[in-house]
Amino acid sequence: MTTVSILPAVQAFLARAHGHYIDGRTVVSEGPRIAVVNPASGQQVATVADATADEVDAAAASARRAFVGPWAQTTPAARADVLLRLAELLLTHREELAQIETLQSGKLLQISRAFEIESSATFLRHYAGAATRINGQTISPSLPSVNGELYTAFTLRQPLGVVAGIVPWNFSIEIAVWKFASALATGCTCVIKPSEYTPLTMLRIAELASEAGAPAGALNVINGRGQVGSQLISHDDIAKVSFTGSVPTGIKVGVSAMEAKLTRFTLELGGKNSVGFLKDVDADKAVAGILEAGFLHSGQICAAGERFFVHRSRIDEILEKLTHPLTALRIGDPLDEATQFGPLSNKPHFEKISAFFARARSEGDEIIYGGKTLDRPGFFVEPTVVRARDTHAALLNEETFGPIATFLPYDDEDELLALFNGTPYGLSASVWTNDLSKALRLASQIEAGTVWVNMHTLLDPAVPFGGAKQSGIGREFGDAFIADYTELKSVIVRY
Ligand code: NDP
Repeated sequence: MTTVSILPAVQAFLARAHGHYIDGRTVVSEGPRIAVVNPASGQQVATVADATADEVDAAAASARRAFVGPWAQTTPAARADVLLRLAELLLTHREELAQIETLQSGKLLQISRAFEIESSATFLRHYAGAATRINGQTISPSLPSVNGELYTAFTLRQPLGVVAGIVPWNFSIEIAVWKFASALATGCTCVIKPSEYTPLTMLRIAELASEAGAPAGALNVINGRGQVGSQLISHDDIAKVSFTGSVPTGIKVGVSAMEAKLTRFTLELGGKNSVGFLKDVDADKAVAGILEAGFLHSGQICAAGERFFVHRSRIDEILEKLTHPLTALRIGDPLDEATQFGPLSNKPHFEKISAFFARARSEGDEIIYGGKTLDRPGFFVEPTVVRARDTHAALLNEETFGPIATFLPYDDEDELLALFNGTPYGLSASVWTNDLSKALRLASQIEAGTVWVNMHTLLDPAVPFGGAKQSGIGREFGDAFIADYTELKSVIVRY
């Protein structure tokens, strides 16, 4: 056992009264509170205030004041500096933030450190770099010239205003960073609404953003249940909603934003992502790929693979090989650095995954490995491998967002392509083969926002990310995000 000790800074943070971060300071109101539960133990670690309508109003108004006030007067380079300083502060407070994240989400400490902190710092630097590259175009209009007049035109990319960033529980820091760093880089300001299950980390990061030089109101955090997100979307001061979460909530968010005042929105939604192994795949690489695609962070990753298609001639061999590393996985306390597989992040999700196990059994799928909850405190389930009875199996069609890899054999590549595309979702997919020509042909035909070849799940800030079909609208990262956080203005001049 190599369980880390909780840092005094983390103990002190948890002991504080938690609420919101509005206008550059912590706000803790009287009224209903939400329990924050450690998924590894089922025990409460803190509580957080559920925002009132007045607090939502105060957060949006503060962000609006910052948008038209101090943040509007900052140069792109000064905005970049704030983001760069924040990246450094994240790394300085790496262990503190990683421990808070693990305590509230059950994420393995190594994943909190690597993805929530180190990767977030990388993303912050990427967005800092973009701040000084937000440019328009010059255009030569072909308008009539009667008396020798000339024309020129140019476009401006102007910040939209206050962005409401609504964030799910699976990556409470990294997904929030994608939103507020996009907003701050483009000159927008932001109100983040974390998930009620993981409300703590953003409170600390907002404090660090102030320390990094973000003026009061540039980054606010408002905590509470879904209703708080809903109020925020409809608020008059909100110019754009950047939502990451499930498809049903995303549809509600889009409708509310449209009804509010045609508020702009981007939706990063769920998926039912496919992983296809061609006949020539190396079995050991396939097994490593299944672990990477299906079981990282217990499958609680929007881009995780859930549908695994293997050529019929190879499926038995690959499923047999998969059993060994799954049996060897160390399941346990996410604060123990030797643990390889932790709990699910919250009780409703644990209940949802348990129900999927029961459904697989009752609907006649074959459970090859796992398929049970663990009899210990917290929200632990086994990593699970299922062979679907046919394409209609619920586990091949409904997003589980959990550690369940569902397999189906196929006979030829036309059938494989039909399987890849036989879902209303289109977030991600991966193709595994030594035949790059086949891989690239499939990549161009697969209906998904991201297709990986011989890899899965890893995201890079330079590469745009987002969903095709029902997995979303809009793109994050790269330079693609700039269009979604700015309004394009055309200026035409006669001279
Ligand atoms: P939800 O859709 O349930 O919630 C997402 C966020 O929306 C939470 O902050 C939630 O608050 C809030 N919310 C809930 N109801 C409303 C509403 N009516 N109006 C405004 N906001 C609301 O998703 P989960 O948190 O369960 O996250 C898991 C889902 O997120 C999965 O489907 C996953 O695929 C998807 N996801 C997509 C990603 C992508 O980039 N495409 C990345 C990561 C996850 P509260 O929690 O308090 O209810």
